[in-house]
Order: sequence, then C-alpha cells, then structure tokens
Amino acid sequence: MTAQLIDGEALAQKIRNELIREVETLKETGKNPHLFAVQVGEDPSSQVYIRSQAKSCEEIGLQYTLESLPKDITEADLIRHIRGLNQNPSVTAIIVQMPLPEGINAQRVQSSVVPEKDAEGMNLASMGRLVHGNAKLAPCTAMAAVELIKSTGVEIRGKEVTIIGRSAIVGKPVALLLLDLHATPTICHTRTRDMAFHTKRADILVVAAGKAGFLGGDMIKPGAIVIDVGINRVPEYDAAGRPVLNKQGKQRQKTVGDVDFESAKKVAAYITPVPGGVGPVTTVMLLRNVVEAAKLA
Ligand code: NAD
Repeated sequence: MTAQLIDGEALAQKIRNELIREVETLKETGKNPHLFAVQVGEDPSSQVYIRSQAKSCEEIGLQYTLESLPKDITEADLIRHIRGLNQNPSVTAIIVQMPLPEGINAQRVQSSVVPEKDAEGMNLASMGRLVHGNAKLAPCTAMAAVELIKSTGVEIRGKEVTIIGRSAIVGKPVALLLLDLHATPTICHTRTRDMAFHTKRADILVVAAGKAGFLGGDMIKPGAIVIDVGINRVPEYDAAGRPVLNKQGKQRQKTVGDVDFESAKKVAAYITPVPGGVGPVTTVMLLRNVVEAAKLA
C-alpha cells in the first residue's frame, strides 16, 4: 500500500476561499471582522510570524491591527488594556503575541481575553467550553488536525483514534474535538507503557510529540490515517549520507515531522507530509476563528 498524501496547502486554500466569501457576507450585514494583535516589547523572533499573520488576514479581507506596548508594562496594566479591547465593539478578535516579557504570566494575560474574542481559542474559558462540547473558537492546530482527517472523507464516528502527546495546545484539544465527533480517543505520552499497543490498533493516528521521525511504519495499523503534527529541524544529508552544506560551509537543516514518512507511507492509507500538512491548515484556522468571532459579535 502507498498512502494517499493529504495536501495541507490545497485544503488551506479551499478553506481560505470559503472564508473570503464569508467575510464578504459578514461585511454586507454590517459586521467587520477585525483581529487586534497585542505585542509587548519587540521580540525579533516574533516579527516574521507577525508579518505573515498580517498578510494572511489581508488576503481574505480581514482588518488587522498590531499594537506594540512598551516592554516595561506591568501585568496588571496589560490586563486592564485587554479588558478595554474586550469592551471595544470595533475589535472582534484579540491575539496576544508570545513571548511576553519575563515576569508577566502569559496564561493570566491570555485568559483576560473574553472567550468570544479569543482568536487562538486556547485561553482557560475557551478550553472550558471545549470540555463542555460548545467551543466556537478552539485551538488552531487541533482544529487543523481534525480538518485534515475530515478531508479524507473517512467516517470519524466510532473510530479508534490514538493521539501521541498530551499538550494543552495539541494533544488534549484534538482528543476533545474528536470525542465530540464520536470517535474513541486514546492519548499516549512519555509515561505510556506500551505505545505500540495503542498505535497499532488506531484507525486514526495524530502524532504531536516533537520527536523527529520517531513513529515508524511498524507501529501503524495498515490502512490508518496518519496526521503528523510535529515540526522538527534536523541536519540534512545527501543520498550517500554526506552532510549537505550551505554557502557558508555549514550543514543545512531541514524540517521533518514526528513520523518516519518513508516507512509510514507504505502502511497508512492517508498521511500528511511535513512540511505542507498541518502547518498551512493551522494558519487558516486562526483566520477561521476570527471569522467565527465576528459572527458571535
Ligand atoms: P509539547 O512538548 O508541549 O508536548 C509534547 C508531548 O508529546 C508531551 O505531552 C509528551 O508527553 C509527548 N511525548 C514526547 N515524547 C514522547 C515519546 N517519545 N513518546 C510518547 N509521548 C511523547 O509539544 P506541543 O506543543 O504539543 O507540540 C508537539 C509538536 O507539534 C512539536 O513538534 C511542535 O513543533 C509541533 N507543533 C506544530 C504545529 C503546527 O502548526 N504544525 C503547532 C503546534 C505544535
């Protein structure tokens, strides 16, 4: 068997096109989706992410505002500021850019965003709604994994799903979302005794451990759907096993997932590539949350 590739770029484009139409309809009814990003200080590592966030909003007609606050702002003032945005009717969604300066509790700050405007869908109130099965806005990567599974057309109801990784942004919300779709999820983690037992009986596998290529074809049930969430940077080698060098003579790095793609694709029925699988769909899930938030406004 050679698995069919689940093309994340193509799915992301399809969803983007749907969102463009939804944004137009919202604007016709007088609702203007507006993502307001709050940044504290100017961490250079987040600049590229912020630029691409602004561009992807623009592409589908969403208003985007970035506000940079001084890095010496106190946590209390930052929370007060966010409460002001919660009250502002022209702001329909809020995102707090990470990282925040040392001494500021990110969870407390993120949780000061009202759940109706929580663009990332992962503050404490949004997570609570997820547990209760009525989340309108959910964590983007978890929703991306679910959209990729749905795109195969395979019925989710009643399926055994094994998720590797129990983080609050991926593993746990994926399990909750799939539970609501009537699957039977199992979550594996570093203390799981016999991981192969769980992976080999899974009709659907979602792998989010952050360990390059650690899940091989020998751990996958023939015909399974494999969603590889991992993003890992590893040194690059050529076919003869020699390091591939860049112009400066340093070894090049490449991005790989948690799944050993070559062995897995021989066993699975569907598999996501890395890059080009979960990543691009995660980006559009943020946009979808912004559109959903505008509907709630
Ligand atoms: P995390 O480090 O918070 O959690 C990793 C989880 O995997 C933990 O629960 C840990 O128990 C489990 N784990 C680690 N090694 C394991 C092993 N050998 N066996 C079983 N379980 C193991 O990571 P995270 O934030 O959930 O992210 C996971 C991966 O997904 C990372 O590679 C991250 O870069 C990637 N990621 C991708 C996207 C995307 O948009 N594609 C978004 C978020 C995270």
